[in-house]
Amino acid sequence: MVDVVFAGGRVVDVRTRTSAIANVAVEHGKIVDVSAHELPARRVVDASGLVVAPGFIDVHSHLDGHPYAGRLSVLQGITTTVGGNCGLSPLDFEQWFAGQERTGYILNQAELVGHTFSLRQAVGLTDTAARAGTSQILAMARIAEQALKAGAAGISLGLDYAPGSSLAEIEAMAALAAEYGRNLPVHTRLFTQNDLYSLYEVLAAAKHSGGRLLLSHFVYQYSGFGTLRPALDVVDNARAQGLDVWIDSGMYTDWATYAGTATFDEQTIKDNSLRFGDMVAATGKYTGTRLNRELYELLHYKYPDESIICYSGEPCEIYETLQKPYAMMSTDAAGYAPGEGHPQIAGSYPRFFRKLVREERLLSLEEAVYRCTLLPAETYRLSSKGVLEQGFDADLVLFDRGTIRDNAKMPDKGEPDAPPDGIPYVMVGGVFAVDGGVFQNTRSGRVIRFGKH
Ligand SMILES: [Zn+2]
Repeated sequence: MVDVVFAGGRVVDVRTRTSAIANVAVEHGKIVDVSAHELPARRVVDASGLVVAPGFIDVHSHLDGHPYAGRLSVLQGITTTVGGNCGLSPLDFEQWFAGQERTGYILNQAELVGHTFSLRQAVGLTDTAARAGTSQILAMARIAEQALKAGAAGISLGLDYAPGSSLAEIEAMAALAAEYGRNLPVHTRLFTQNDLYSLYEVLAAAKHSGGRLLLSHFVYQYSGFGTLRPALDVVDNARAQGLDVWIDSGMYTDWATYAGTATFDEQTIKDNSLRFGDMVAATGKYTGTRLNRELYELLHYKYPDESIICYSGEPCEIYETLQKPYAMMSTDAAGYAPGEGHPQIAGSYPRFFRKLVREERLLSLEEAVYRCTLLPAETYRLSSKGVLEQGFDADLVLFDRGTIRDNAKMPDKGEPDAPPDGIPYVMVGGVFAVDGGVFQNTRSGRVIRFGKH
């Protein structure tokens, strides 16, 4: 007798991008059978009318163990998250992994070590405009190497946040990640509008290192300035030349970040022609309020840790990006208090299926599932995830393709953390994290330590 059988659902084979009605059996945290067999089970879930897919793998988040963000993530079908992005991460990975293992977490977590905030600050580079000296680069590399040895998923960069970062720093981080066979996700810098230099510098580093480059939240970086199509052309060309480069994107063009970062410096705002009226406070007592100069100055200078959303871009830019065969879904989700934040924390994946599959019909259901599962699993070399086959981890999501929808709204228009409809079951490691649409705080997620078995 197996633990659970999901009976009669439309099971997606992400390898062939096909689907068929079948039963999926789960035992001891693993998938033990996918077939027409009717195995006896302790619990049978009637999956008729539902899509049965591998759990979504979110390659770009800032969950970093945050409980409320973890809850919102599994409610949208995510079973594995990669945290520590954009250069912001823990530094002591032995300690961090041990802490997460002790408490358990809602979903599986891989974690990157972050260059731009974390490593730079650890070696005394508090000035974001300063470039690292040779000894500081060596010191950053030493800390990063410890993290990689402890099982970090790679080294993340958030170059936008430290304009002083030099090519030597980028090259050193790229070389180290490549040496360990780990990824280099980069939130590129944005000097000015119509800027493609930000791509060339990281592509050059990837070419020299030979490692895998993941361009983070691509739409946030290049939408709205007439730059998106030329930026995609640059990536197409780099791939045609054999570079190991991939991109991720969420379902929004309107990006969020901390009010005090270099992104919201007066000069950056001027260079990028950002307008205060296109910005809205996403956290704190001004949540949902559109900015003016006065509120901008208050948040940027007095409340640097609050988040601001910047309205930007067009939805067609998301569609164009996510149709690229090397593009995978991500959220850029972070930990916020209830009622605050950006709708990406609760709505990204349901919005992807609603818009690209059901409404715009730009991707088939099976191709869309692939972009959320096997493609990210392969990109991060997660060999036991992303596929529904015997022997794989029992991370699953069941959803109704006809009703799946995001309910989260921008904070000036509604609740940014409203959970979606149409996702009744999510299983993490063989345990229900969402059951009948209700969150279960079962904390069955595991930390994923690379290079450790
Ligand atoms: Zn970022």
